[in-house]
Amino acid sequence: MKRLLLVLLSAVLILLVVVLARTFAQPAAEFNANPVALPDGLDAQRAAQSLSAAIRLQTISHQVGAPAAQQAASDKAFRELEAWLQERYPQVVATTVREQVRAPSILLRWPGKDRQLPPGLLMAHSDVVPVTPGTEKDWSYPPFSGEIAEGFIWGRGAIDSKGSMVAMLEAVETLISQGFQPQRDVFLAFGHDEEIGGLQGNKRIAAYLQKQGTRLAWVSDEGGFVVRGQIPGVKQDVAVVGVAEKGYLSLILQTSAAGGHSSQPPAFNETAVGRLSRALQRLSETPFKRDFDGPTGALLESVTPAQSFPYRMIFANLWLFGPLVADQLAATPTGAAQMQTSIAPTMLRAGVKDNVLAPSARATVNIRIHPRDNLDQVMAHVRNTINDDQVQIKMLPAARNPSAVSDINGETYKRFAGIIRQSFSNTLVSPNLTVGATDARYYEPLTQNVFRFSPLLMEKEDLGRMHATNERVSVENLANASGFYYRLLQNLTE
Ligand SMILES: [Zn+2]
Repeated sequence: MKRLLLVLLSAVLILLVVVLARTFAQPAAEFNANPVALPDGLDAQRAAQSLSAAIRLQTISHQVGAPAAQQAASDKAFRELEAWLQERYPQVVATTVREQVRAPSILLRWPGKDRQLPPGLLMAHSDVVPVTPGTEKDWSYPPFSGEIAEGFIWGRGAIDSKGSMVAMLEAVETLISQGFQPQRDVFLAFGHDEEIGGLQGNKRIAAYLQKQGTRLAWVSDEGGFVVRGQIPGVKQDVAVVGVAEKGYLSLILQTSAAGGHSSQPPAFNETAVGRLSRALQRLSETPFKRDFDGPTGALLESVTPAQSFPYRMIFANLWLFGPLVADQLAATPTGAAQMQTSIAPTMLRAGVKDNVLAPSARATVNIRIHPRDNLDQVMAHVRNTINDDQVQIKMLPAARNPSAVSDINGETYKRFAGIIRQSFSNTLVSPNLTVGATDARYYEPLTQNVFRFSPLLMEKEDLGRMHATNERVSVENLANASGFYYRLLQNLTE
């Protein structure tokens, strides 16, 4: 008995030593503790006014089939945005080459000194989502006023993504006026239909570049932000760079059954509605594998050195505490989406009357595919899980596999991360998985380095303003973003 106790005690001790050793053997957290100054030549007020003017132009993306008057209003706004570009950025217009792509998307090539080097590509989209009717009155300032007040520029598109577009243009305009020329070519791509899938904009631009045989050194598009107070035990801000994005799949599940009077129904699961419900139930009970591999694991790894005790002990020992952390993460939709392929039932249709058995029932399920899975695996999982050949499963168009994962150990990512640290003080840089779709995916055949990052500091409540009420960006934030692109253009174009 005594011996057994002794063995147990030493096992616990060894475990403790390993856990603590791993906790304290973490490398030093990498961040820049010094304050960051805006590069000479950039002007925060000017950038704010540029954005304000851009927000006033209601370049709203409407779904196909929207009323002609709405579409015409957007077309006019895009023409005005073109005039805004000409007027606001004369150096950009004079120095860059306008590539012939479908208007109102814009593709500019800033010629570099060495045409042999693969170009870089900066992306932002010029379209915005509409304001939900009825919510206009909830805005502190009208959504298309571009009001500059309380230190912010207010309005639709401030964050997503006219803010980035303006920050890029301010940086390029300033660099050109200072006589700077990049070593490699730099493309600026401003798609006009990102919010409705990018089919006419960036999809075509990417195809255009590919047809010319262009290889890109890197692509920088929207995605993660600099977030504050969102990672437990980390007091620094964290710049989140999407190095991969999830795949996309919508499925129609359809069942048919004999209709008829509902007073003498067949067994519950023999009805169309019952059978479909069972299929959905089975899907909900059989989630996809969840884990920390890939970009999500890399994110945890990158913040661990900066974490306070006991978080650092837990994150540094995922071999032991992994299941605990996974449970905690999975309890939030954001965390769960990072770790696994998600399934969301989104539409349901069956029946016409309360006392008539529906002859058919159909559900739409939207699935976002984690980089460890692919379309074939997902389809097999869905089929095996539903396990009912009377439920037809149909893939909707626009299904796609997850993106490749950009190399976070490569030189380009390291430099990109370094530029972020230079541009934001007290900020860690973390790779992660972008769970939504960006237009950057269209460029995947052209490059191995796609970084989805909007250089804007977001407090928790700011994230809720995207596609919602009171979207805004601070004047300081916008200026810092232009500082980031300024440094990027200086340092990532050699
Ligand atoms: Zn966007």
